[in-house]
Amino acid sequence: MLQASDIQYLVVHCSDTPDTDSIGAPEIHEMHLGFGWHGIGYHRVIKRNGLIEHARPDYWQGAHVLGHNEISLGVCLIGRSIFTDAQFQSLEQVLLAWRETYPSAVICGHRDFSYTDKSCPNFDVALWCQAHGIESFAHPLA
Ligand SMILES: [Zn+2]
Repeated sequence: MLQASDIQYLVVHCSDTPDTDSIGAPEIHEMHLGFGWHGIGYHRVIKRNGLIEHARPDYWQGAHVLGHNEISLGVCLIGRSIFTDAQFQSLEQVLLAWRETYPSAVICGHRDFSYTDKSCPNFDVALWCQAHGIESFAHPLA
């Protein structure tokens, strides 16, 4: 079980599904079960219309950043390249709420972890935070 003090990273992902697919947490859940995981690996999913879906509870270790799952929470934007304004508004809401509980956690994108060559979430999370007045802290070097 994750404790609030364990959380060092708040990680932004995308589902890497076509922008025209209006899927949500149930579809991701099925996809991740198919990988042999214990269901959906993220803690929050943000649908194309901006709806925030709760997936794994925050105390349950996720499956979204290899080697860092025990110190992070993950939020996934549905889509691949162009995210909607409603999604970005909801992302801000999720991150600000998490920031209250995990004040020292670094906000970053999946691609900021050096172990991966993924481009997920396909935008610069630190720059986005800057543009929205959200402190992301330093780029993680883990
Ligand atoms: Zn990812």
